[in-house]
Amino acid sequence: MVQISEVKGNGRENRITTHSHIKGLGLKEDGTCEGVGGGFIGQDNAREACGIIIDLIKSKKFGGRGVLFAGGAGTGKTALGLAIAQELGPKVPFCPMVGSEVYSSEIKKTEALMENFRRAIGLRVKETKEVYEGEVTELVPEEAENPLGGYGKTISHVILGLKTHRGTKQLKLDPSIYESLQKEQVSTGDVIYIEANTGAVKRVGRSDAYATEFDLEAEEYVPMPKGEVHKRKEIVQDVTLHDLDIANARPQGGQDIMSMMGQLMKPKKTEITDKLRSEINKVVNKYIEQGIAELIPGVLFIDEVHMLDIECFTYLNQALESTISPIVIFASNRGMCTIRGTKDIQAPHGIPTDLLDRLLIVRTLPYTEEQIRSILEIRAKVENIKLSDACLDKLAKEGAKSSLRYVIQLLTPASIIANLHSSEEITVEHIDECYDLFLDGRRSARVSQTSTGFLQ
Ligand code: ATP
Repeated sequence: MVQISEVKGNGRENRITTHSHIKGLGLKEDGTCEGVGGGFIGQDNAREACGIIIDLIKSKKFGGRGVLFAGGAGTGKTALGLAIAQELGPKVPFCPMVGSEVYSSEIKKTEALMENFRRAIGLRVKETKEVYEGEVTELVPEEAENPLGGYGKTISHVILGLKTHRGTKQLKLDPSIYESLQKEQVSTGDVIYIEANTGAVKRVGRSDAYATEFDLEAEEYVPMPKGEVHKRKEIVQDVTLHDLDIANARPQGGQDIMSMMGQLMKPKKTEITDKLRSEINKVVNKYIEQGIAELIPGVLFIDEVHMLDIECFTYLNQALESTISPIVIFASNRGMCTIRGTKDIQAPHGIPTDLLDRLLIVRTLPYTEEQIRSILEIRAKVENIKLSDACLDKLAKEGAKSSLRYVIQLLTPASIIANLHSSEEITVEHIDECYDLFLDGRRSARVSQTSTGFLQ
């Protein structure tokens, strides 16, 4: 039987999963490339062009501009967009969207664009926390009579023995910390730390594993100052402006960045208003000025750009000028077409010329059969799928006729079919079966045209 398990993550994350083999542009020191690198096969010119775009961004000469990838379906446009984000640095946000996503009955088109803009802008918050860390030697809740006079007792405070490198210290703690200790299932022998300001408790491990755990996370820890229970920990958290919007979309809002970050743990969906966004911007700006937080502009990737209309383009023109704009990359597989929302104004890729003039246009080319074979080989390895050489040849041939994307998509169903036949490896017969079950775009169109048979 095929096991069906829960599919985790949202659509946006799943869209990136298919590019998990992409690790960067794979360029050489001099900015050139020769076929294979960073998980990429071929598409050399486009990759080199992206390398120059990275240089422009890093030298801050890219303001007010954007990028357009023009090329057929499955020619690596999204993969290149992701690679640009990866080349810009670790944890740089990459937000993929499709033009048609802006049409929803719930929110305005410009609102949807703004939301995605904020998903593509990261915020790196560095916080230094004072913590008490050590091994628990004693954990005793002290009881008191119920102050309301009812039955039962309440906990007035907790005695916590903490053995540190220097010796054992006894701390008298608030009952709320007892709740946190219970939640973390802390017992004697555990190594924990307690945040000095908030009293938040974290269980680090057991005392016998203490040395190893300590070594493993050595980078995060500063050595315990001699003779102190107290120590400092620098915690770096990466979030996007949209994460903060969502987490704080509630009447009381967060007033400082730490409580705003805290809200991330208990998100509650209410409307994100302009007022809320501007309040969040104010707090973020304050913390940037104080050097606690840093903005990390990421990449907003808008596929099927011809689906956007003139109102969206007007908004994008302005947004590109903003001081905190992400890098906006458009992608299109259309030539001349009507700009949506106009009577019949034709433009390349359906993009108004004033916006088109601001874009660096990079062409992506179709792959050869050999390149498709290599890309399939990489994907199969990443997805842990075993294929015979004959299978790869067959799929590569099909890919060259239909599209790379189609044959990549056949991999998973083919492995399910192989599984059902109790075979560890996908064979040509399994591919044939899959090919009959799932059509590519062209075959589907052909069948629809001569549709009498199709409808029976
Ligand atoms: P579409 O127009 O259909 O959205 P696209 O041009 O964005 O397609 P991708 O989604 O980037 O194409 O590519 C399809 C698949 O092939 C992805 O899994 C991608 O990671 C992989 N891929 C594309 N080009 C390359 C390449 N040159 N090297 C390695 N993998 C690639």
